Amino acid sequence: MLSRDAFAQAAGAVDAELARVQGERRILLKGGVVLTLDRQVGDFAQADVLIEGGKIREVRPNIEVSRDAVAVIDAANRIVIPGFVDTHSHSYQGLLRNILVNGLLNPDYNRDIQNILTPAYQATDAYAGMLVTALGFIDMGTTAIVDISQVSHTPEHSDACIRALQESGIRAVFAYHRGAGPAAQYPQDIKRLQRTYFSSKDQLLTLALTANLNANVFALAREVGVPVVQHLVGNDLSTPLIELGRAGLLRPGDEYIHCLGIDDAAWRLIKDSGGHVSICAPIDMAMGHGMPAIQETLDHGLRPSLSSDHGVTIAQDFFTVMRSTFTLQRLLILQRARKGEQNLPPLLSCRDVLEFATIEGARCANLADRIGTLTPGKEADIVVLRADRLDVWPLNNAAMTVVNMMNPGHIETVFIGGKVKKWRGNLVGVDVPGVLRLVEEARDGVLRRANYAKNLLG
Ligand SMILES: [Zn+2]
Repeated sequence: MLSRDAFAQAAGAVDAELARVQGERRILLKGGVVLTLDRQVGDFAQADVLIEGGKIREVRPNIEVSRDAVAVIDAANRIVIPGFVDTHSHSYQGLLRNILVNGLLNPDYNRDIQNILTPAYQATDAYAGMLVTALGFIDMGTTAIVDISQVSHTPEHSDACIRALQESGIRAVFAYHRGAGPAAQYPQDIKRLQRTYFSSKDQLLTLALTANLNANVFALAREVGVPVVQHLVGNDLSTPLIELGRAGLLRPGDEYIHCLGIDDAAWRLIKDSGGHVSICAPIDMAMGHGMPAIQETLDHGLRPSLSSDHGVTIAQDFFTVMRSTFTLQRLLILQRARKGEQNLPPLLSCRDVLEFATIEGARCANLADRIGTLTPGKEADIVVLRADRLDVWPLNNAAMTVVNMMNPGHIETVFIGGKVKKWRGNLVGVDVPGVLRLVEEARDGVLRRANYAKNLLG
């Protein structure tokens, strides 16, 4: 145990190191196990990652840089990977985490979350929910999200959501969605949002439009030139989707979530139109959406991205999401093998799943030219995981350690766009007690206005 003085001294040293990392244009992550997930660049048992001006400059062993001009971070016994990309999060629901215990999509979620609690949100509540979810994501190594917050009751609600994303420092696609009540301006308010917040390409936020298989909304997305984000959960959704295709309203880069309740023709249309798929296995399995469409995606020649959906029923950490995907796909294939089926599709590997969680997420979010792999030239969204811990050491395989052994507690350091967001286990520049207070007060207000009681011990 450190004495109080030694502890203060150690804390001071960490602060000085952090100040250096924040102040230098160049940062060198030294001697980590580096999974670039870029097949051209390859992976390294031991290598350095040089960040310069927010971008990845170089990845290789033994990069020599004068120590005067670079902040060096020791990454020995760490695994260095691209940040996770979660392609579907209803982040404003951060206030409602774990409130829908054991809940089903129908009737519980649709009744309680959509129809009772969400309409009770004021703009400040949307801000608080979004902020705590985004900060929680960064803490857990998720550096980019596609956010779908169906809480745009007024333009001020949409503004509050965007402000929270900006202030959190996360990279996000804001997939503008509907709200409740007479003041809602969805979908046409997207033009104001685009003008106000998305005129610059040089920022962490980009814009998309969430549709509900509605041709007018798809047409508006095409008019303003943004991708569509579309949930597909239900029965016989193929007909409306194929009609949208016939009307020429689908574009490469559109995102399809869940992909349940569609037939072969609709799958082919998604692929042929250049669409991307987001699979959220834990939520689908627990809440009755249907069998997660992991194998259907692969069978149709697509690679899925992964998503957590929301935290009202299951944690949004990506280790949970990755593990569910890995175990379920393998179970389904192995059960088919047990029944004697021949020529089965391959079992997913840990590396497959890690690619889904990173580069496929970046593709789905239309950000693959900027993030998703540790490729020189890309922006530095990087996660450093500690492997020298009693629960995972020794390190025999890096991809497996990340996918099947680790948890958010192993996330030590996080960079987004080359800026340090988490340092040695703590978020940087975040007043955590202040955020917790804000969130609790917002939660209390929403529950009071909705006349909804939480069930702490039920
Ligand atoms: Zn959803």
